[in-house]
Amino acid sequence: MLLCCLTAFCLVGSLSCAAVPMRDTRRAQPTRNKLLLISFDGFRWNYDQDVDTPNLDKMAKDGVKAQYVTPPFITITNPTHFTLLTVIHNMWFNTTTQEKKGYYMTQFVDSYWDNGSLPIWITAQRQGLKAGSLHFPGTAATYKGETVRVREVEPRLYDYSNETEWRLNIDKVIGEWFHQQDLDFVSLYFGEPDGTGHRYGPDSPERREMVQQVDRTVGYIRDKIQNHGLTDRLNVIITADHGMTTVLRGAQVEEIILYKIPGFNFSDIQFHLVDYGPVGMLLPKDGMLEKVYSALKGSHPHLHVYKKEEMPAWLHYSKHARLLPIILFADPGYVINGFFPVQFNKGEHGFDNQVMDMKPFFRAVGPDFQKDLVVGPFETVNVYPLMCHLLGINPEINDGHLDNTKQMLLPKKNTEACMTAGQTVSRVSLSLAWLSVKNLLQEQKAVHRCFTP
Ligand SMILES: [Zn+2]
Repeated sequence: MLLCCLTAFCLVGSLSCAAVPMRDTRRAQPTRNKLLLISFDGFRWNYDQDVDTPNLDKMAKDGVKAQYVTPPFITITNPTHFTLLTVIHNMWFNTTTQEKKGYYMTQFVDSYWDNGSLPIWITAQRQGLKAGSLHFPGTAATYKGETVRVREVEPRLYDYSNETEWRLNIDKVIGEWFHQQDLDFVSLYFGEPDGTGHRYGPDSPERREMVQQVDRTVGYIRDKIQNHGLTDRLNVIITADHGMTTVLRGAQVEEIILYKIPGFNFSDIQFHLVDYGPVGMLLPKDGMLEKVYSALKGSHPHLHVYKKEEMPAWLHYSKHARLLPIILFADPGYVINGFFPVQFNKGEHGFDNQVMDMKPFFRAVGPDFQKDLVVGPFETVNVYPLMCHLLGINPEINDGHLDNTKQMLLPKKNTEACMTAGQTVSRVSLSLAWLSVKNLLQEQKAVHRCFTP
């Protein structure tokens, strides 16, 4: 979500929007409010429908609620928090050494994260803003030699569900980082209700209880913001990376176990990434691709088997060099096992991003957002240009567009015009964007100095 892919242009930031004639500069001065991005891992779009959530309801009344949002495929934590073009799986792997690193250890592999795109922290810092991140996936990594300057990475054995810890983290972000250190942007991550959804299933009382904990936390965050006098200066976006669905079990369910599939043999495989929910990848040994492919294709009614280049276009999961030649994914409710069933979660995600259970929630509140507005669904890639616009920074090339979210904004933020030293700038062409932005920043500062009383 945070990072940029390489296909679409997004040209609208408050520095590059339509300019106004010179005489209008005083009222055209753009305002820059702070921004807090919060992710509650695995918070499905409709988790508020079977539990009382007074604080989330109040936030919707005071701000904007989307019906749901659509994450990128595959719908798992690291790729959806970043993007599939950069981060393709929660696991880091090396097909030569057979080495694999799980979710936590990927935090410390820079090359896993820093793969051609820049996260918004770095973009913001390069444009003069102060950014921070607490526990957000990718926080620890260095990007093009730069890290997010204010940061906290969770310890290895961390209880992601402890409400007392959550409050200490919120106190730090609101009280220290925004209030005392005057940061402009912070991303804040909570590992729930994902953990509870996996363990007990999305329809369990335990999940509903955890949603109430999330709701109390939203109330706590908004109170903290109020207590520090930040309500009119801080925009807050709360969303998630993916949803959750129930894993089907029982006598009627034919589990997907690759070892049992006739004609398939693990000795034909050089490297495999399976036993990790509904998506798997295989690297067949030299000359074995067709054999492996034809053994698996059509072998189970709920298993989809593709050669990487044949992956359905809507999944946008075929181009990256890190993807292995054969990609497997299962229908909702099914997981892919290697030799025998080793996955016992009652809830899973990672399925097709068109499946409703995979859709996360989205709320936003703050000085730049409309009030009591419900908007239709949009793709999470559009959150990045929205955040850049709110922060008044020029985005990197990305797959989203502000057009898909700007209806959430108050008219003044929507039409905010900017001024350059005596010249009218409409849309900055992207090929010139970097240079232009630097120049514009300098010119804009000069203009502001001139007109500051
Ligand atoms: Zn997740």
